[in-house]
Amino acid sequence: MSAETQTCQFEAETARLLDLVIHSLYTEKEIFLRELISNASDALDRLRFESLTDSALVPAGQEYEIRLETGKSPRTLSIIDTGIGMSREDAVKNLGTIARSGTREAREKLQAAKSAEDAASLIGMFGVGLYSSFMVADRVVVVTRKAGEAAATRWESRGDGSYTISETERDTCGTTVTLYLRDADSDAGIEDFTESWQLTSIVKRHSDFISYPIVLVDPAKEEGGTPERRILNSMKPIWTRPRSEVTEEEYNEFYKHVTHDWNDALIHYAYKAEGVHEYQALVFVPSKASPDLYYSSPDTGIRLYARRVLVIEKCQDLLPSYLRFVRGVVDASDLPLNISRQRLQHDRHITQIRKWLTRKVLDSLESLRTGESTKYMQMWREFGRAIKEGVGTDFDHKDRLSSLLMFESTNSPSDLTSLKDYVSRMPEGQTEIIYLTGGSRSAVENSPHLEAIREKGYEVLFMLDPVDEYMLQFMPEFDGKHLKSAAKGALDLDKKDVDGKKEDPAKETEEQEEREHFSSLLSAVQGRLSDEVKEVRLSHRLVKSPACLVVDDYEMSPYMEKLLSQAKGDVPKRKRVMELNPKHPIVVGMRRRYEANAIDPIVDDSATVLFGMAQLAEGSELLDPVKFNEAMVRMTERSLGE
Ligand code: ADP
Repeated sequence: MSAETQTCQFEAETARLLDLVIHSLYTEKEIFLRELISNASDALDRLRFESLTDSALVPAGQEYEIRLETGKSPRTLSIIDTGIGMSREDAVKNLGTIARSGTREAREKLQAAKSAEDAASLIGMFGVGLYSSFMVADRVVVVTRKAGEAAATRWESRGDGSYTISETERDTCGTTVTLYLRDADSDAGIEDFTESWQLTSIVKRHSDFISYPIVLVDPAKEEGGTPERRILNSMKPIWTRPRSEVTEEEYNEFYKHVTHDWNDALIHYAYKAEGVHEYQALVFVPSKASPDLYYSSPDTGIRLYARRVLVIEKCQDLLPSYLRFVRGVVDASDLPLNISRQRLQHDRHITQIRKWLTRKVLDSLESLRTGESTKYMQMWREFGRAIKEGVGTDFDHKDRLSSLLMFESTNSPSDLTSLKDYVSRMPEGQTEIIYLTGGSRSAVENSPHLEAIREKGYEVLFMLDPVDEYMLQFMPEFDGKHLKSAAKGALDLDKKDVDGKKEDPAKETEEQEEREHFSSLLSAVQGRLSDEVKEVRLSHRLVKSPACLVVDDYEMSPYMEKLLSQAKGDVPKRKRVMELNPKHPIVVGMRRRYEANAIDPIVDDSATVLFGMAQLAEGSELLDPVKFNEAMVRMTERSLGE
């Protein structure tokens, strides 16, 4: 690679985001320092970890520290660390792009954000880190040298769409970020970030827990010709402090350091296991799902420490994948420092911690559900889909997971319900939990499949998320009650005796007679629709509608079929069962005409029309629009002609 100065353009999206960062985030400018200190601390963590296996990386006598140095003319602030540093390639890759993990969709949302507040909360999800310095500086210079390498790199940008990169020198490994500060003007609320008292109070507020000394080099106070060095932070790991002494703000600052999220966490939990193994954990549920959470390889994990020393920065084996949204730290007292990162899944320490932590997190979520429903609902909106994945993958915790699930239901147009609450509302006589899957509430709400169920006063759960169909395959029952689709299998809501006969004998006889009366019509309709349906039978689910379509209990619902064909191309459509309502005037009329004339064309056309109407009523597309249309034209002509 060339040694001269190279001018490079930021990626287009980076340049646009940068502009937003600089111009829309005018509140709390001071957090740029938190971001830079956080980066420096990460770099020190990485060097300390690498040096466990390669001690030559750290020169003798090198301290692990973060230094703040200021200059008055021009006014500068430098954040200097003795960490792992970056090579030229690293610098281009890391400092030339923003929102590496953001999806295009999330970036577009950011472009469309109306208020600065919206932008701030969205930007928070990307981790803009270094770029936040452009809120206070008009020029930023990074000089960095990677541990184990001799060459150093200088990166410079004015935050205006381009940056330069060149070779330089640096005595030791690490990184110096120098900000050329904008003019301070206390009248306009622009602080002077070269003032020692400012820096002292900002570090105390945002970075006190950082485990390396943050040293302020103060030229105003000299001693024997050398400027005073003052450590600004207490360096106490937050999870080791008594909970009552840690403020909510401190927990949030720590959360932001660990996750690089700019938003506050939704909630945090501190756990401690004492006994043969001692573990401590401090975990957070974010207030928003990161844009990559539901994509193939999200950038998540828990920080794993062994007696306060970081051993793995993002350990993904401490929680099952469906809990990947939970962030934080685990500190284990008996973990070897040289734990093999390749064999983590098989390591007995890791397996034990995972078991313990998973149970703790699930219990906390259950308490949140019962104790703080507003927060729980926010958690559910952001991470409910992940929890549903768990139902299909974590069989050890299936019961815990199913009690966390929330669904829409006929009970309320706006509130979601848990399965437990649903069961508690089940009226006498209802034995199954009834649900219907579909693409939206309006699509399922008016489905003919619900008519008799509604009339009976039974509540129906609406499962509107594509992942619900997948999840249901692993959840045949809850609390001993079978989960039953309103659109699958036979449905009979009448009370039965021990032999399975209806308790009301008159009803039993009436239905028997209906079956006999309609049997030849059913065969005729089936004959007419043999290419489309596999069976025609009388229905117990319909009240107002003449017909509906159902599948067998074990078959895929039409909604699932549609999802699959969207994902995988054409999935052959399976024939379904058509149910007719024996009390409906159309069906009664068809029977009368059929008995009078077994080859009456009106019966044939009515069968085609009924089949089409059943598809339309459930929100499906017509299987054969041409056939339906032709039958409709003939029917309309006849009715006008008579
Ligand atoms: P974020 O830290 O939120 O990912 P940044 O833009 O601040 O975003 O940093 C991008 C990357 O640049 C970091 O993930 C890290 O790899 C690298 N980096 C930033 N600062 C330093 C530093 N002081 N030392 C070493 N690497 C750094």
